[in-house]
Amino acid sequence: MGEERPSEVEPGLWVCSEAAVASALADPSLGITHLISIGYPPPGHPAGDDDDDDDAGPAGGSNGVKTLSVELEDDEDGDLLTQIPACVAFIRDALRLRDANRAAAAAAVNDDDAEAAAASSSAASTRRGGGALVHCHAGVSRSCAVIAAHVMKTRGVDADDALEVVRRAHPRADPNAGFVAQLRLWRSMDCKLNMADEAYRLYSVARLARRREYRGYVDATDVQPDPGADVDTAGDERTAGGETRVDRFVPFVGSASVAIVGPRHGGGREAGSMIRCRRCGRLVARGGNLLPHRPGQGIDAFSWRKRHKMEAAGAGSGSGSAGGCQNLFTQPIAWMQGVEDGVSTEGKLSCPRCEVKIGAFNWSGCQCGCGAWVTPAFYLQTGKVDVMAPPGEPEVGGSIPVGGVRMPRLAASRPAVRRPSLAGRDDA
Ligand SMILES: [Zn+2]
Ligand SMILES: [Zn+2]
Repeated sequence: MGEERPSEVEPGLWVCSEAAVASALADPSLGITHLISIGYPPPGHPAGDDDDDDDAGPAGGSNGVKTLSVELEDDEDGDLLTQIPACVAFIRDALRLRDANRAAAAAAVNDDDAEAAAASSSAASTRRGGGALVHCHAGVSRSCAVIAAHVMKTRGVDADDALEVVRRAHPRADPNAGFVAQLRLWRSMDCKLNMADEAYRLYSVARLARRREYRGYVDATDVQPDPGADVDTAGDERTAGGETRVDRFVPFVGSASVAIVGPRHGGGREAGSMIRCRRCGRLVARGGNLLPHRPGQGIDAFSWRKRHKMEAAGAGSGSGSAGGCQNLFTQPIAWMQGVEDGVSTEGKLSCPRCEVKIGAFNWSGCQCGCGAWVTPAFYLQTGKVDVMAPPGEPEVGGSIPVGGVRMPRLAASRPAVRRPSLAGRDDA
């Protein structure tokens, strides 16, 4: 049978299966300087782990090829999105190197005697090269998804068009449906990973629920950091002297710190809103932890794929039904006892300080007062918590809908915020 050749999706960007990597790297005419190896577990020595034992190491690579080893399952819930930024940056570096080498070679042509230059420049450009090879096991799903992400970012096209570009060069390109959905989500975030993005938060929680069902447990890293953890032992901040001690900004840590800087779709000021136990004042969530749902709709409100389709079709949510919501749905947060064990499907959520019941969770979902089914559900009851503007923001008249309920308006100058996936949109 014929030996597989890598496909060149755009000049200097190649894709192939694992089997074809070694020969591709050995071919100087391809000029490959950067290699992305995607596997699960991540390939440690991508240049050929069966028959090549000279151990170049995961970071070195042979022949001075820079390598990036990426851990990713070819599964619909494989976490493609968080791998994309590093991969596209790596590809960009390779293509920049290629451009620089070509420019240098062209300059040499101008400087030198034409005949000598023609020989030297072609030799130099192939020797110095500049180009990226992306491979996974079969060269069908994971590698092609990563390359499509690069095409989307550099050409500003959507996932389908980018995949078409990949397929033209590499007909068997066929990322799994979950990856395609993640590429669409990435596009909706302007090709930047924004963990504060509403759609991203919904996607993450839905994915977590599926993974919990599959694995039977939730990792500690799967829940959001407790925004009130560092003030929990400091007493009741509301009554502690004249100082508003905790009115300083309590930063998120870990992935949620990304959430706070994201400018779009819920990553702005609202993300800093403070949700406190009404009884004792304990900070239990930030605005950035809230997950919106469409009031009154009896669907899987967390199905962001459906949601995107509906939005694309111009459909809106029920108008003015936000008053029926008696719950603030949130991401799972570290203080929520019972959420992380694989046994309890549902339970009460008690304030981590005063232990009064402030909400509940149910991995199988529950129905909000407005009629919407939310799955999975982690919620705080609006009667048991107070939602406050971030420190330093004047609380002025009016309110904006967040998470299906009215929250204090965050700034006087801010116009009524229209966020399409939140409550308050009119029906089309
Ligand atoms: Zn509701
Ligand atoms: Zn409390």
